[in-house]
Amino acid sequence: MSQIEVISFDAEGTLVTPDFSQAIWHETIPALYAGENGIELAKAKKIVAQEYNKVGDQRLEWYDIKYWFRYFQLGSPEPAIQSCQAKVSYYPEVMEVLSSLKGQYKLIIASGTPSELLQPQLQGIKNYFLRIFPSISLVNQLKTPEFYTYVCESMKVSPAQIVHVGDNWQFDFLNSRQVGIHAFHLNRGGNSQQGSLADLTELKRHLS
Ligand SMILES: [Mg+2]
Repeated sequence: MSQIEVISFDAEGTLVTPDFSQAIWHETIPALYAGENGIELAKAKKIVAQEYNKVGDQRLEWYDIKYWFRYFQLGSPEPAIQSCQAKVSYYPEVMEVLSSLKGQYKLIIASGTPSELLQPQLQGIKNYFLRIFPSISLVNQLKTPEFYTYVCESMKVSPAQIVHVGDNWQFDFLNSRQVGIHAFHLNRGGNSQQGSLADLTELKRHLS
């Protein structure tokens, strides 16, 4: 892999733990919904989760916090996002891996999380990255093969010069590999599909 110039990371589930996302989608929004509608929190959690599932993760709305605040009539999402800021955390090996790769490669983020939710989650690590590519905010797409081509063109490298790593089999692994990027699937849960990485230190081993 001597020609690699750029290493691209997914954000949520790869660098950033699900704590922030869990807090905003499954605690804060249901709590606001319960307050607005005068119902129990447990019931609100159920209703909100059902509404999310009706949309599903193949549609852009799933990721769009402004859409959901409009849909549930909860006002502006800004205060809710800020209230969850303290929940942001990174996986234990992240800082060390980013520090050691930063000198040798251009590091970027390719994320399906829209900018308004991505920025707060990257607060503590954004200085490691040359560019941040939130697919939905930049090209109004999920992480499709076309999005990965856009990333290569923006970075002025060929797909063979990029490594991408992420925890979603479709959006991180299959779709980036389809355009010729060196893709790695991260499976933090262990019991790996063949070829998956258990954490990011294993990525370092593959690069050297
Ligand atoms: Mg992810």
